[in-house]
Amino acid sequence: MKALSPARLVDRALHGPDLATLHVAVDGGVPKFLPGQFVALGFLDDGRATVRPYSIASAPGGDAYELYVRRVEGGAVTPRLFAAPIGSELVVGRPKGRFIEPTGGRLVLIATGTGIAPFVSITRAHAQADDPRPIVILHGARHVGDLTYDAWLRAQIGAGRPWRYLPVVSRPDGSGWAGRTGYVQQHLAEIGPTHDDVFMICGARVMVDDVAERLRTMGVDPAKIHTEAWG
Ligand SMILES: Cc1cc2nc3c(=O)[nH]c(=O)nc-3n(C[C@H](O)[C@H](O)[C@H](O)COP(=O)(O)OP(=O)(O)OC[C@H]3O[C@@H](n4cnc5c(N)ncnc54)[C@H](O)[C@@H]3O)c2cc1C
Repeated sequence: MKALSPARLVDRALHGPDLATLHVAVDGGVPKFLPGQFVALGFLDDGRATVRPYSIASAPGGDAYELYVRRVEGGAVTPRLFAAPIGSELVVGRPKGRFIEPTGGRLVLIATGTGIAPFVSITRAHAQADDPRPIVILHGARHVGDLTYDAWLRAQIGAGRPWRYLPVVSRPDGSGWAGRTGYVQQHLAEIGPTHDDVFMICGARVMVDDVAERLRTMGVDPAKIHTEAWG
């Protein structure tokens, strides 16, 4: 397939049985991309490609893409991405997508699960550029251990970035978690939306549609709500 380039799995860090960050190097180097974009990634078997879109979690300029992937039982691609030995050959498409940082005032990023991936790319790019734009990150995860970028975000804020980070855990299950519980939808008021804010929402379609609807009900201009829904 012409649109796909040979690539290689160079690293996989497991954050639980079904959650991993993957590092994927591309033959000829990682092309230019905008934070928020995604790539098609998968396998070539006897000339036949099986690929799925994955948001890029790394900032532009690295040696490999970082992707943040949940394993879907019975899926065509994710079980293989979790089982493939390091060094395995993959195929990857060119970066695509229009889910990129909108201009405006404060940037409010709302995600569940691996939907935080494009926001990790965006915030990493902000950190690299020492960008003064205020950002709010509202991230919902099932378990405390699924807040993969929690330590990095907290460290950035500790270092003085003008960001607010609002993690939410739906199943704290005796983990000792003393933070927000439930679903991101229950914590939108804490953002304290102002009319300068622009919103990006990413994750499962039911959550994305519900959050967008609630924001509109709270008086947010629909033109300032940008969404990317998976599945
Ligand atoms: C623009 C875009 C960006 C994406 N970025 C990411 C990302 O950064 N990280 C990531 O993990 N995923 C991401 N996805 C989802 C990803 O593309 C695949 O859909 C997912 O990894 C499942 O692929 P699969 O081949 O393993 O399963 P498939 O063979 O596609 O699906 C197997 C079965 O599982 C169902 N299914 C698919 N996904 C899920 C799910 N999440 N939960 C439960 N059932 C499911 C399908 O409907 C099907 O019945 C993104 C999707 C889009 C559209």
